[in-house]
Amino acid sequence: MKQFMEGATCRELPALMRKWRCFLGFPAFLLLFSCSDSGSRGKKLGAELDIPDSVEINLKAPQKESEQPRKKRIFMTFDDGPNLGTRNLLTILKEEKVPATMFLIGLHTKASPEQKLMWEQLQTFPGIELFNHSYSHAWRNRFTGFYKNADSVISDFNRAQAMMMLKEPIARTPGRNAWRIDSIARTDLVKNRTVIDSLQKKGGYVLIGWDLEWQFNHKNAQAIQTPDQLMAQVDHLFAANKTLKPDNLVILAHDQMWRTSTDSLRLHEFIRKLKSRPGYELALITDYPGVKEALANQKRF
Ligand SMILES: [Zn+2]
Repeated sequence: MKQFMEGATCRELPALMRKWRCFLGFPAFLLLFSCSDSGSRGKKLGAELDIPDSVEINLKAPQKESEQPRKKRIFMTFDDGPNLGTRNLLTILKEEKVPATMFLIGLHTKASPEQKLMWEQLQTFPGIELFNHSYSHAWRNRFTGFYKNADSVISDFNRAQAMMMLKEPIARTPGRNAWRIDSIARTDLVKNRTVIDSLQKKGGYVLIGWDLEWQFNHKNAQAIQTPDQLMAQVDHLFAANKTLKPDNLVILAHDQMWRTSTDSLRLHEFIRKLKSRPGYELALITDYPGVKEALANQKRF
C-alpha cells in the first residue's frame, strides 16, 4: 500500500496493484496509517520545508510576433497529488517562480494528515492550476474495470470535482493518455475510447493527456531520466515535430517523485535548464491551444 502513495502512477503493473491492500477497501482511519506513511515521514517533511504564503510567479506576457520568434511552450503537469513529494515540489516552484499544473486525486486530499495539509497549501498556492485526476484513481488502479462503465467514470470525476470545488472541468484520466479538446480526440487504448468520449460529451470535461512522461522507478519513485536526458527528449520532440500541437509540449510527472530532497534536485535542475533556454517558456495548461475555447463550449457545472 505504501507503494500506492509513493510510487503509484497512471501506468501501474498488475503485480504492483495486487500489493495495494488498504486503499478504500478498509475504513478511512486505516488509510491514515497505512496508505500514506504519514507518521514520522510527515513530521519530518513538515519540519524541513517552508511553504510561503505568497510568491510572485513569472508568467511572461505573450511575445509580439514582429519582435522575435514565438517561444516553444512547455507545460509541466504533476499527477496524483496531494502526495509525498508535493511539499518539495511546491518549494521548487516557489523558488524558481514557474507555473505548473496539478492533476489531483480526490481521495488523496483527505487520506492522511499530511495530505490534508498539502491540500490546504495547494488551494492558496500562487501560480499553479488545480484540476481533476478522478476521485478514486480507478479504485486501486483497476483501470480495465474502471473504464467499462461510462456513467461510473463520470460519477467518479464529478465526485472529485465537487469535493475539491474545482472551477474548471479540466481533467486527466488515470492510467490513460487521453485527449479531448474540441477537435482533438486521442486515446492511447482504443477499447476505452467510447467511455472516454462520454467523459467529454456527457460529463462535460476537457481532457488533457501528455506528450512526454518523466518516468520513475516504481520501487523507489525515483526519476528514471536524468534532467539532461529529459531535456534531450524535449528537444527531439520539438525538432521532429512529434508533439500533439506544434511548439507545445506537455510533460507528465508525479508528485511522489520528489519525496526526498535528493530526488527533488532532479526536478530543480530540469526547471533551471528550461529557464536557461531562451527558446522555451513554461506555461499553464489553460494556455494550451484550444483549451479556453473548449471550456467555453463545454456544459457548465
Ligand atoms: Zn495518476
